[in-house]
Amino acid sequence: MKRLIILGAPGSGKGSQCKWITKDYNVPHISTGDIFRKNISEGTELGKKAKEYMDQGKLVPDELVIDLLTSRLEENDCKENGFLLDGFPRTLEQAEALEKYLNLNGIKIDKVINLHVPDEEIMARAINRRTCENPDCKEIYNLRDNPPKQEGICDKCGSKLFKRDDDNEETVSNRLAVYHAQTEPLIEYYKEKGLLSTVIGQQELSDTIALVKAELEG
Ligand code: AMP
Repeated sequence: MKRLIILGAPGSGKGSQCKWITKDYNVPHISTGDIFRKNISEGTELGKKAKEYMDQGKLVPDELVIDLLTSRLEENDCKENGFLLDGFPRTLEQAEALEKYLNLNGIKIDKVINLHVPDEEIMARAINRRTCENPDCKEIYNLRDNPPKQEGICDKCGSKLFKRDDDNEETVSNRLAVYHAQTEPLIEYYKEKGLLSTVIGQQELSDTIALVKAELEG
């Protein structure tokens, strides 16, 4: 069992890494962004509140995120198999709340992968990103580097592809600014705890996978 965190700016390719990590190591993939998007599509109160912030590229307030995440960690799959946190923690307050939860439960994080990609590359990737709408597939395409064979259709499952509402230029630059101001300090936080492994995101997904794998197995 592994308990992992993946850090990286929005659009650095964390989602693509999470897909293979969750499969190979049989750990539940917990993405707070996915949980919010699910709530938005189901029209829940939480979804309505979160959407206001997400559409502007702002962080959803800590009090809405922390309980949501810790109650997810209480579920059996996490207790039995560990977890891979993607998009959480995003602030020092969230990291400290997580630490408190871990201490109370007598568990520890095994590794924090920091996926580093320059801002200009993130912008180019984000505006070209398309995602499969099928929740069991969620395959990610890029119109520049990895387009689907048929426009707008997933190669794997035939479902429609969509562009996330928050993948536009203005929102992406807001999200990057928010990342640098609020989330980047977590790199130092986890470095001091001796848990951090930084991986430079490569052009080819398979190359980045190999680098991350080496860190997870090292
Ligand atoms: P993501 O899919 O991780 O890029 O998240 C999309 C959006 O959801 C972010 O831009 C935030 O508005 C919100 N969000 C996701 N996770 C968090 C978090 N841990 N704290 C605050 N806001 C979050």
